[in-house]
Parts: sequence; structure tokens; C-alpha cells
Amino acid sequence: MTKSPTSRALHMDTLSVSGEQVPLVVRHNPRARRFIVRVDMTTGAVHVTTPNKRNVKGAVAFARGHAEWIAEQRRQVAPAEPFCDGATLPVRGVHHVIRHVSCARGAVFQSTPNGDSVAELHVSGDAAFLPRRVTDWLKREVKSDLNESVLRHATKLGVRPSRITVRDQSSRWGSCSSTRALSFSWRLILAPSDVLDYVAAHEVAHLVHMNHEPEFWRVVSRLVPDYCAIMRWLEREGPALHKYGNDPFSED
Ligand SMILES: [Zn+2]
Repeated sequence: MTKSPTSRALHMDTLSVSGEQVPLVVRHNPRARRFIVRVDMTTGAVHVTTPNKRNVKGAVAFARGHAEWIAEQRRQVAPAEPFCDGATLPVRGVHHVIRHVSCARGAVFQSTPNGDSVAELHVSGDAAFLPRRVTDWLKREVKSDLNESVLRHATKLGVRPSRITVRDQSSRWGSCSSTRALSFSWRLILAPSDVLDYVAAHEVAHLVHMNHEPEFWRVVSRLVPDYCAIMRWLEREGPALHKYGNDPFSED
């Protein structure tokens, strides 16, 4: 998996797509050779990269010229499911209902379901901070699961990553840089644990082979023998995980 350069937003706008006003973010990247337009599959927002800082108008016009393609992409974006009291979200593949409990201290704790009751995520503190508190908690949980998985697979292969980071990336579940830094999407905590474990194994295997050649997949299969079934799960169910707790102008 590869990394894309991130750059600061130069201009925020809206774009009319099939009669709907869609957030548009223009970014500057001097390394880009031309305008690049993409749709954030988490939020449905449109991102345009311009090689020239002064050509914001041209970038917006370029996006407008691709309205039909953008509409097509946006049809695949799942409707947003923001974190709020009463909303549901999967945690390690198990459905949870978010419950805001009013008490002064801000904390998140999981209730274990008994009998036919549904699992709950209790969030205390000011309701205004609930979305941020849930996101922060999920990021802490995913970090601890990823650390465990990465360490186990890395030990088996006798390799070591330089760093493990959790990011809000929408285009990839994980990536491995040339400096041996592994980076993962926090949304892996929403998927069943064997999915997170596979993505960790996949990126650790890149520390042995920085490609997707047959020798790379042989290493993956040593770590996760039934990885094909998990890849199919990610393809089928993965996009829907992007609808949880999003913000239309969030950075990748
Ligand atoms: Zn890969």
C-alpha cells in the first residue's frame, strides 16, 4: 500500500452535484503535475489538488467539469452515522449503542451485554464533547490492538517496524513507508478483530517484501492462513465502516 502526500487546505467551497451542495476542498501540492480530483469515500467531500497555489479558480472549474464522475463516485458513499446519544456503531465487529450518561467526569466505558441485551458504550461528561470522546477512545483501543498484533507478527518474522501510527485515512486501511513506519486507519477497531489482525500482518509482511509479488503473499499466508476470506470481507463490508463518526472537512 502506498502513501499520498498531505497538504494544507488552500480553499473551501461547495460544488453543485446532481442538485446537491457538496463540500469542496482545494489543496496545493507543488509536486502535482496537474489538477487531481478525488471524492473522499468517508464523507463524500470533493478534494482537488492544484500544482499552482494561485490557480484556485482553475481547480474549482476543473472539479465542476467532472461533476458527472463525482456524482458517480458519491453514489458509493455510505450515509453518515455521526457519534451521538442513541447512535449505533460496531466495536470489534460487535454492535454497540452509544449512551450519554450525565455526570461531570468525561470517560467512555463498554457495557457487556447479558442475555439478549445489546452492548452499550457509555459516554459521560458534557454532551458537546461526546463525538470527540468516542473517537479518542476508539483510537486508543485500536492502537492497543494494533500494537499487540504488529508485535506478534513482527516477532514471528524477525522484523521490527520503526513506528506505528493511527490516522484518519480514508483511502487505505494500512500502509508501510520506506522508513519502516506502519500507519493504520482508526476505523479498523470497528471491524471484527481478525480483520484488524490481517491488516497488521499485511503491513508487517511489507517489512520483508515491499511489493505485492507472490513471495509477499506467501509471507502473509504464513501469518494469516485464511487471509483471502478476510480480504473479501474488507472489500464487501469495508466501505460501510467509513460512514461512522465523520466530519465533511476532516483531513485524511
Ligand atoms: Zn500492501
